[in-house]
Amino acid sequence: NKTILLNKRPQGKPELSDFKTITETIPAAGAGELVLKTRYVSVDPYLRGRMNDARSYVPPFQLNEPIQSGIIAEVVESKHADYQTGDFVSGMLAWKEYQNFFCKGLQRVDPSVASLSSYLGVLGMTGLTAYLGLTEIGKPVEGETLIVSGAGGAVGTVVGQVGKLLGCRVVGITGSDEKVHLLRDRFSFDEAINYKKSLHLKQAIRAACPDGVDCYFDNVGGEISDAVMTQLNTFARIAVCGAISLYNETEVPTGPRLQPIILTRRATMQGFIISDFSKQFASASKQLATWLGEGKLTATETIVEGFDQIPQAFLDLFEGKNTGKMIVKV
Ligand code: NDP
Repeated sequence: NKTILLNKRPQGKPELSDFKTITETIPAAGAGELVLKTRYVSVDPYLRGRMNDARSYVPPFQLNEPIQSGIIAEVVESKHADYQTGDFVSGMLAWKEYQNFFCKGLQRVDPSVASLSSYLGVLGMTGLTAYLGLTEIGKPVEGETLIVSGAGGAVGTVVGQVGKLLGCRVVGITGSDEKVHLLRDRFSFDEAINYKKSLHLKQAIRAACPDGVDCYFDNVGGEISDAVMTQLNTFARIAVCGAISLYNETEVPTGPRLQPIILTRRATMQGFIISDFSKQFASASKQLATWLGEGKLTATETIVEGFDQIPQAFLDLFEGKNTGKMIVKV
């Protein structure tokens, strides 16, 4: 029974040596407990923040303790009346092959409704983040221009597709030509830009958004966002979802002063954490599942196989090796 611990706090970009694998015995279920077998593990950029010893909206991981993330697990032993062996659940669980667990915080998932992995992506936290961040903060209106950074990732691919369903002109910014083609051809983005190849990102954004930007869904922050901000229309909304380009910085990054842009364009910039919208999870999940069932929304996943691959899959997020949701199948 392997467990992956935080071995040391990453300095800058995380490395494999920041993690350590140990082997323990498979636990038995105590009274009211379940034994869970890990089936699919979500690796997410926000876990990087939890590896720092810093105050945030979630407490930091402790050294020599298991990392936790969203996991789909199978019940292999149950001492709880509501759960049977063979049930599947989703929850914030430890990076362990097997673990015992009280049922608090677990949600049932049904593999006959959608694939198990989709409960970590389009029907899970990243799908909800995309849908609720966009509709509650970005508030796009039919005919407006929506631009999304990190467009080829888990959140970004859903933001763009939902933007199209809401009738927007959608432009994506991503890190490879392959993802550019995917966004245009498979997800019907109106335009997509490879930020690694665009020497003049500002001009590329201006060309892709001839009517300016009404809504910016920001997954990456940093220089990409600086370039988008110059193209805002009056009363633009900026939903600050993530800032992956800055998560590995060791100094406080500096950039252009944005206040004059925010002021003159009367733009609204708001950060959010998906748990802010927990009251809307049920209705949002229903909408996403309906679109998925109707074929209006496509789930995109990069699935890596093997428990031992979890740390590498996490590191690969910072290299853009995933398209859509990065998931490890155990
Ligand atoms: P992704 O699936 O988008 O994976 C990360 C992607 O980020 C990579 O594939 C890569 O794509 C891109 N990337 C990596 N490094 C950089 C960089 N230096 N500059 C620009 N892009 C980079 O992850 P998620 O969809 O899970 O998350 C997207 C963002 O949303 C993250 O910032 C995350 O922290 C945030 N988030 C926020 C939530 C909230 O509640 N506010 C909830 C969930 C996620 P590419 O090839 O394009 O470079």
